This record gives sequence, structure tokens and C-alpha cells, in this order.
Amino acid sequence: RAKSAGRNTVRFFDASLKEQESMRVQLARDLEQALAANELHLVYQPISDTGSLEIRGFEALLRWKHPLLGEIPPDRFIPIAESAGLIDGIGAWVAEQAMAAAALWPEDIALSLNLSPIQFRRPGLAAQLLRIAQESNLAFARLEFEVTESATLLGFHREEVLLALRSLQQAGARIVMDDFGTGHSSLSNLKDFTFDKLKIDRSFVGVMCDHAPSASIVRATIGLGKSLGLTIVAEGVEDHAQLAQLREWGCDQVQGFLVGRPEDVHGFAPDQAWSCVRAKSVTCAPDAG
Ligand code: C2E
Ligand code: MG
Ligand code: MG
Ligand code: MG
Repeated sequence: RAKSAGRNTVRFFDASLKEQESMRVQLARDLEQALAANELHLVYQPISDTGSLEIRGFEALLRWKHPLLGEIPPDRFIPIAESAGLIDGIGAWVAEQAMAAAALWPEDIALSLNLSPIQFRRPGLAAQLLRIAQESNLAFARLEFEVTESATLLGFHREEVLLALRSLQQAGARIVMDDFGTGHSSLSNLKDFTFDKLKIDRSFVGVMCDHAPSASIVRATIGLGKSLGLTIVAEGVEDHAQLAQLREWGCDQVQGFLVGRPEDVHGFAPDQAWSCVRAKSVTCAPDAG
């Protein structure tokens, strides 16, 4: 009995692994098609000054609405794109779309792009991003590139990754360590590369008002980052209590549903709409209403 149960278990396990694998293969095919058919799109989430809540920039976030399965989150399809060899094409598409959009924004508004660690395997990534910015007429100083630890710790790729980051930085862009404090981003990288910004992961920020250890981590991270001369961003700010605490602790910038959700802003006309975008953000200030 034990034996046959064991066999069944194994067969079950195989079947579900196979199913998962064929699902991934199917999704990878669909994703490749979606990219070719222009069915991916970008939304933009504001990053604002903690004190004034004035918008300093937008982070481009990728969206995919599958024709049958509906919205598939990037946490699900980016890994598929990475393993299916699609991430270079998708990354280039994101950079082209987002930079073209940002070129129409006011000049003091930055654009943040997420770079997948896999993209750094491509020699000439920095040169490609420089070319796209040039073709979009976007000053490189308006760009921020967000990376996680997996990007800087790709074993034998490490030196190449650091070189690519350095080139982007020397061309005027800022390099952001994303998701700081999680398994993806840690202290060891802070000593080996001069980041410009550090984004505290929302898993800490989201619970910091009800969970003392998370609050300590956020507070200490702000202090650590400041002493390294970095700009500190808190992601996932959802309520006024969190905002007030981050103000008190001197966090430079905030991003989260309280301040602004990821939205389709690329259609905004330069002047009128922008004053509206800025105003909407400022009404979030607790002392504004
Ligand atoms: P990320 O770069 O850390 O982006 C922040 C994520 O937190 C986004 O999820 C955003 O929608 C979400 N978020 C922002 N504020 C709040 C909040 O107040 N509450 C909550 N609950 N969530 C908030 P999203 O858009 O699902 O993206 C997930 C991840 O997918 C991103 O994490 C990034 O790692 C990756 N990603 C998204 N777009 C791209 C892209 O164009 N290229 C690459 N390589 N990765 C991307
Ligand atoms: Mg990011
Ligand atoms: Mg993040
Ligand atoms: Mg994240």
C-alpha cells in the first residue's frame, strides 16, 4: 500500500510539474506574441517628496492583459520572460515606450525603469539604453534604473554588471537599489557599488505602524542610507500614519497607493494635465484638508 501510494504521489507530482511547465511554455508563447502585437502596456506610479508630496518622478510598471486569462501580474510573467529569453526584447520595448512618454513630461520629472538581472548578460546594455534615450530626446540625467541584488550578484557576471551600472551612472542616470532589505537586496552590495538611491521594500513599510521590528528596520535603514549619502525612498506607503512616521524619520521620498497608484499617464498633455496631476498628489497631505 505504501508503495503504491508512493507511486501515485510521484505520478501526481510529475503531472502537476508537467502541467506547470506546459503552462509556462504556453504563457511564454503568448507573451512573445503579445510583445509583437503591442499588447503589453505601461503604467506609471508617482514617486514624491516626503515633505511636500510634490511629484519627483514616475516608475514605469509593465502590464499584460492576457486575452483569455486577464491581467497577469509582472511578478508572474517577468520570470517567464527571463527564462524564455524574452526579457531583452521586453526590456528594450519598455525603455522605448517609457522614454518616449517621459520626453513629453516636464523636465524636472524623472523616469524610473526596472532592469532585470538577466538584461545585464547582454553586452552593450548600457549603450543600448543610451541610444534609446538619445533617440527619444530624453536627457539621461532624468533617468533612474532600479536593480535588485540578484542583478549585482550574478556570480561571474558581477564585474560586468558593476561596469554596466557604472556606465549608466557616468552618463548621468541614478542607480537605485530596489526592494532593499529583502533577499533580493542586501548590505554587501552597498559596499561594492556606489548606489544613488535606496528603496525600502514595501514588506517593511506596509506593516511598520503595527510591527515594531519592521519600524526599527525602516528607521535604521533611513539612517544607514543617509550616512552613505543616499536618497531614501519608501515604497508601499498606504496610509497617513506611515507617511507621518517617514516624515519624522527623514525619509526623502515616498511611493505608494496613498500618494498615487500606477496609472496610464503617458497620454497627459504637458501643461494643464500636469498641474492637475501634481495637485491631486498634494491633496493627500494630512494637513491639507
Ligand atoms: P517593484 O519594482 O518593487 O515595483 C513596486 C511594486 O509595488 C509594483 O507592483 C507596484 O504596483 C506595487 N505597489 C506600489 N505601491 C504600492 C502600495 O502602496 N501597496 C501595494 N500593495 N503595492 C504597491 P507591480 O506593478 O505588480 O510590479 C511588481 C514587480 O514586477 C516590480 O516590483 C518589478 O520588480 C517587476 N516589474 C514591473 N515592471 C517591470 C519592467 O518593466 N521590467 C522589469 N524587469 N520588471 C518589472
Ligand atoms: Mg522598482
Ligand atoms: Mg520595489
Ligand atoms: Mg518589488
